[in-house]
Amino acid sequence: MGKRTFSIGGVHPHDNKISRDCRIKPLAIPPTVYISMSQHIGAPAKPVVAVGDKVKVGQVVAEPGGFVSAFIHSSVSGTVKSIAPRADLAGNPVMTIEIAVEGDEWAEGIDRSETLVTAIPSDNKAIIEKIRLGGVVGLGGATFPTHVKLMPPPGSKCERVIINGCECEPYLTSDFRTLLEKGEQVVIGAAILRQVMGNVPCTIAIEENKPEAIVHIREVIAKLGYEGIEVMTMKMRYPQGGEKQLIDAVMGRQVGSGALPISVGAVVQNVATALAVYDAVQKNKPIIDNSVTVTGACAAQQANLLVRVGTPLRFILDAVGGVPESAAKIISGGPMMGRAVANLDAATVKGTGALLLLTEAETRRKPASACIRCGKCANACPMGLEPFLLNRLVKAGDMEALEENAIQDCIECGCCLYSCPANIPLLDNIRMGKGAVLGAIRARAAAAKAAAEAAKK
Ligand code: SF4
Ligand code: SF4
Repeated sequence: MGKRTFSIGGVHPHDNKISRDCRIKPLAIPPTVYISMSQHIGAPAKPVVAVGDKVKVGQVVAEPGGFVSAFIHSSVSGTVKSIAPRADLAGNPVMTIEIAVEGDEWAEGIDRSETLVTAIPSDNKAIIEKIRLGGVVGLGGATFPTHVKLMPPPGSKCERVIINGCECEPYLTSDFRTLLEKGEQVVIGAAILRQVMGNVPCTIAIEENKPEAIVHIREVIAKLGYEGIEVMTMKMRYPQGGEKQLIDAVMGRQVGSGALPISVGAVVQNVATALAVYDAVQKNKPIIDNSVTVTGACAAQQANLLVRVGTPLRFILDAVGGVPESAAKIISGGPMMGRAVANLDAATVKGTGALLLLTEAETRRKPASACIRCGKCANACPMGLEPFLLNRLVKAGDMEALEENAIQDCIECGCCLYSCPANIPLLDNIRMGKGAVLGAIRARAAAAKAAAEAAKK
């Protein structure tokens, strides 16, 4: 079978995987960690510890604040110093547990040995509960609680689990390294996920620029002897790792506007999430650390580091030679979808995958000029939107027309901005408009719910 890709839009940025040969090395534990209560999509978690409490690595420090929410565990052993709002990487206050580190004592029951546990428990309900208790969330960017994805709503049925190993964002290499260095664990995680979803087939999708990973994972599947798991080689194309794009590429099915992947029979999880599932189910290890790529042409060193959750960004950068004078901008994530870091004292969260250092020349935007109606932005949009039109409607503040033109479907991939010869800040404007429209949709839903409840009384 030829190499697959998605059918609408997309771009081909240079992949710049300059840290691809850097093995994942554990970073030292910082003197203090700052554990955010908002590390997942959904309601923030609620602290269950108090100032002065002693905690161990892997101990629960916060419980889910709602159905779509997740447990949070201490990534270190030590004493809780404060529970208070603290600035995140954008400078916004987020409830945070500050823990002063003392030693490295782990909670009971966590298997820290290197022994590979291949026998998968047969009780699927118990597996999902372990994933929930392990605080596992989607680590490909969305941080959606994984156990919720594994419980399809009545009437929907999973037909295929897709493991996203595309890592299509330029510069990022932590998933690639994870495939090479923790391939067995990823494959067992994939086998657990396909079992839970009803022994459906599972596709591990890897882009063609990672041939070593494709070969290695095929060998691992053969060695472990799991059935129903295949590796699919994908063409290089951004944003192939987007959930809807990957489903289109692998299954040839389109997820409708506002619909979930399960509506077309798909459950998508990222490589790092499959590893977290293995850890939670086979080793009783919750998410307390994650792999972070530190990269950029101006970075003192390229690195892939295993970092305890809650480690200050400054501590990470200091460990790899500090921030060079030539670095004008630091991005958390990749250059296409990442977020600018405004506060180096912010700490990592479960979903932190990379710190990218860029120079002034690499970040400088050319001055914007008038739209020449070339249509390149619309051709590049993988969601089939018309970015030039959305941009105009955002400027006009026409909320109704924005919703009619499905601005809420924008996945903020930046393909439109990347393609625009007039350098119009399409992504910034569309992101702003999308936020306003989603706010209006949520307010409408809340009002409708309140009216329905009032009518019942
Ligand atoms: S950022 Fe949004 S509008 Fe622009 S190409 Fe991506 S999905 Fe389309
Ligand atoms: S790519 Fe830029 S110039 Fe071309 S139609 Fe879109 S907004 Fe206009």
